[in-house]
Amino acid sequence: MTRTALSGWGRTSTSYADVVSPNNESDIATTLATSPGVIARGLGRSYGDAALLSGGVVLSNRDLNGIGPIDADGVVTVGAGVSIDELLAQSIPRGWFVPVTTGTRQVTMGGAVAADVHGKNHHVDGSIALHVLSMRLVTPTGPVTVSPEVDAELFWATFGAMGLTGVLTSVTLRLIAIETDRVLVDTDRLANLDAVMSAMALGDNAYRYSVAWVDCMSRGKHMGRAILTRGVHATKSDLESSSLSSPKDAKLVVPFDAPSGLLNPLSVRVFNEVWFRSAPRHEEREPQTLSTFFHPLDGVRDWNRLYGRRGFVQYQFCVPDRSSETVVAAVDLLSSSKVASFLAVLKRFGPANRGPLSFPLEGWTLALDLPVGSSKLSAILDRLDELVLEGAGRVYLAKDARLSPEKFAAMYPRRGEFLAVKERIDPEHRMSSDLARRLDLVGR
Ligand SMILES: Cc1cc2nc3c(=O)[nH]c(=O)nc-3n(C[C@H](O)[C@H](O)[C@H](O)COP(=O)(O)OP(=O)(O)OC[C@H]3O[C@@H](n4cnc5c(N)ncnc54)[C@H](O)[C@@H]3O)c2cc1C
Repeated sequence: MTRTALSGWGRTSTSYADVVSPNNESDIATTLATSPGVIARGLGRSYGDAALLSGGVVLSNRDLNGIGPIDADGVVTVGAGVSIDELLAQSIPRGWFVPVTTGTRQVTMGGAVAADVHGKNHHVDGSIALHVLSMRLVTPTGPVTVSPEVDAELFWATFGAMGLTGVLTSVTLRLIAIETDRVLVDTDRLANLDAVMSAMALGDNAYRYSVAWVDCMSRGKHMGRAILTRGVHATKSDLESSSLSSPKDAKLVVPFDAPSGLLNPLSVRVFNEVWFRSAPRHEEREPQTLSTFFHPLDGVRDWNRLYGRRGFVQYQFCVPDRSSETVVAAVDLLSSSKVASFLAVLKRFGPANRGPLSFPLEGWTLALDLPVGSSKLSAILDRLDELVLEGAGRVYLAKDARLSPEKFAAMYPRRGEFLAVKERIDPEHRMSSDLARRLDLVGR
């Protein structure tokens, strides 16, 4: 065991914990039985305090590795510590892609299930939960296999539970078949938020993948101008020649922390402007590599250091369709506040699933990247919470580091249902985290 300082990806939360890296269920069960507080950790890509436990034991999942054979239906069993990157390196050359991918490949399967991650295809394919057939989970009361048929209550409670139902050791999921390693992408540059939201509401269903990058610093008639990219997997007949290559490693590395303040309203405004102008006004069926389309940020390793030592907050919320005005109000708040805000990411969500703490609900989701530094930031985040609550929406726990237990309970009304399941498999309240303590999710 090594006492180590750990942080989330946003680097706003740091705490010390004893880190262990077991590679089998029996060692995990012993750790759970002998430690008063334990939480699993993957690659630390959650932004806040979900994979931290001050003074407790943090169980790295990285030695829970191994990728099984992929059968003819695309079904594969992988260790919970296997990253999307590692899985894709094996699966793409065989013609299979993950059914849901996050904006980075540096996320483990355990972390993906714990957050119930979504991709650019939630409006069509839902979150990762809908593609998992079964999972091995070591709970404080013992190891179990859970599936939609076997202990469905615990299966569903694990999606979005941020590790609080136990330690996942393996996940069996169904991959999707691809013929090539390209996506055919349509791009549209849209003058404002109204235009992009209308285009998405009307047209997203024609595409498997859709995402809009929204400029939250432009004002007036250009408020929320955006670049909308939508795509489908290219088939062999779409291309003159085709390949199935695995993604390449990052070429660039940020070697040290940038000075805090490098990303200020002026520099971010210039970046947003250049980026907006560099996109085509309208382009159809441009073949892009899987990495360019899905994981552009993976081209630069440790890019979070660009935000300096103070770090940054990612604020992601979703609201139902009837509250689409909340998205407009959030972008208006940001653009009038003069707080630096990188391009925000806007997506459509399809129906929610059965997980009591799963984040997505049918409608809109917006993710904002905000460097720490402005004295106005805290008040802006509080105001965003109010807007989200008024819109019957919620904040994504994988990105959160600051929500209050009261607001959390209002945003996640099925919290009690989740705690009842946790009580059953963790009566001594051993599964804990800094997030669980903050949001009152350790136990009754
Ligand atoms: C650049 C970037 C882009 C992202 N894009 C998206 C996106 O498009 N969609 C999306 O949904 N999310 C996105 N995320 C968030 C990310 O997918 C989640 O935070 C994910 O949980 C991180 O996985 P991880 O392996 O790094 O886990 P960690 O951050 O280390 O842990 C996250 C949670 O998973 C739990 N956990 C980890 N391993 C296990 C295990 N074996 N058993 C039980 N619980 C476990 C931890 O306890 C913790 O609560 C993005 C993050 C980054 C940095």
